[in-house]
Amino acid sequence: MTSGFIPPKAVRQFGSWIDGAWSFRQGAQIMSVNPANGTRVSLLHEAGEGLVDQACVRAHAAFEAGWRLSSGEQRSNVLMRTAGLIRENVDELAWFEMAESGKPHKQARLEIERSAMLWEFAATQARSLTGDSFGGLGKDYLALTLRAPVGVAAIVTPWNFPFLIVSQKLPFALVAGCAAVVKPSELTSATTLLLGPILKQAGLPDGVCNIVTGSGRLTGEALLKHPLTRMISFTGSTAVGKHAMEIGARMLKKVSLELGGKNAHIVMNDADLGAALDAVLHGAFLNAGQSCNQGGRILLQNGIAKDFTRKFIEAARSIPVGDTLRDDVLMGPIISEAQYRKILGYIEIGKAEGATLALGGTCREEAGGRYIDPTVFTEVASSMRIAQEEIFGPVCTIQSFETLDEAFAIANGTDYGLSAGIWTRDTAAALKAARELEAGTVWVNTYLDGPAELPFGGLGASGIGREVGRVGCEEFMDIKTVQLRSGGYQPRWIGKAI
Ligand code: NAD
Repeated sequence: MTSGFIPPKAVRQFGSWIDGAWSFRQGAQIMSVNPANGTRVSLLHEAGEGLVDQACVRAHAAFEAGWRLSSGEQRSNVLMRTAGLIRENVDELAWFEMAESGKPHKQARLEIERSAMLWEFAATQARSLTGDSFGGLGKDYLALTLRAPVGVAAIVTPWNFPFLIVSQKLPFALVAGCAAVVKPSELTSATTLLLGPILKQAGLPDGVCNIVTGSGRLTGEALLKHPLTRMISFTGSTAVGKHAMEIGARMLKKVSLELGGKNAHIVMNDADLGAALDAVLHGAFLNAGQSCNQGGRILLQNGIAKDFTRKFIEAARSIPVGDTLRDDVLMGPIISEAQYRKILGYIEIGKAEGATLALGGTCREEAGGRYIDPTVFTEVASSMRIAQEEIFGPVCTIQSFETLDEAFAIANGTDYGLSAGIWTRDTAAALKAARELEAGTVWVNTYLDGPAELPFGGLGASGIGREVGRVGCEEFMDIKTVQLRSGGYQPRWIGKAI
């Protein structure tokens, strides 16, 4: 423990964070519970239209009052100090992240540390977000492009990686000079809300970042529709993402969407099979499979398929599932009753479709938590729903193929295009995969790496736009073209026959 943080015995109350202070203006109360044991964690006061309006008005005022023209040095300092404070508060943040999302404590801690790196990376970009200059346009004529912040960004995030995902957006919005109103998932709001006081302590002017809590239906909807939010940066399901896009289209807002996935993870005969086995397991079952990047469609080349499947099933069988405070646990509970029922429904669909349930399918409700064991289907056809639809749980399918082209056809055969992985020692195959796999990220001989320098995002039903990296800053900016003449203007109307 770095800060002497002691896990709270009582439920923590949160309001919304508006203009640098908590606002507990009365709304419906929402209780978050620990999915591992049913204990109550945080009490939220839902922000209604009035409070969302106040948050957007304050954000707009703070944007106009100075943040949009703040220097790179100021932005960089604030973001760097924020990263330091995140590290100082890692114990508290990791505890709330674990308690609300049901992820293993060690994993939660790693995610908070990785988030701090995203804030640091964004800070490094602050002083180099430049435009272009055009000196070759002719005598007495110069032009340049300026990058200008879009305005107030509406940031809406899901429950599965709450702090990591807000850290993929918010520092990039702030470094661009945008103000923001953030709405985290109502299931896992605590760590995002804890950012409010951290940002204030780091020197962010009041109002530049406001955080509203509540349901998607009320708080989220009000935020997306607010006329002062000029950009929507949304991560969540494809269905709600489409809805966000519709709102954006009606109001002509800039829209960036990070949505669902159904990702293929390919292993070729010539791969480093030991490393591949570890990565395929990690890709399939991290966060109990509740991950947009889940490598849930495992594609094995015929020469290794039988042996790899056997080893994969053996290894998956021994994944420790359970109490998230135990250091050896790798898989925690399913987030909610609805998600639990949905995953079990897909297991039944898989069986009914004729796939072979080679492992798992077993579940239990114990001590207030809902657990589903690692589940593997073999004898799977690409047309089956379990091979097409995002399950968002610890369920994966195994299919085999002979040629690389067959693998690409299977991999590319869904509506989604978030990420894909391939294991091979053949450079030509790797290069071909990089070109042919229709996904925003292609991992070769690795999986789930994510340095802050690299853009992230999806194709097709997986979304629009990119976040993180330099591009992640530019997403929150518009380009303004400036043309300057210092003489040589040729009259076009006066004294001319038109
Ligand atoms: P969700 O779409 O149900 O909710 C996401 C957010 O949107 C939440 O804050 C929710 O309150 C809000 N919301 C819901 N309805 C809304 C509405 N009508 N108006 C405004 N906001 C609304 O998703 P979830 O269950 O929280 O997360 C799981 C999904 O997120 C999965 O599909 C997963 O693949 C996806 N995801 C994608 C990425 C990525 O980077 N591509 C990362 C993580 C999760």
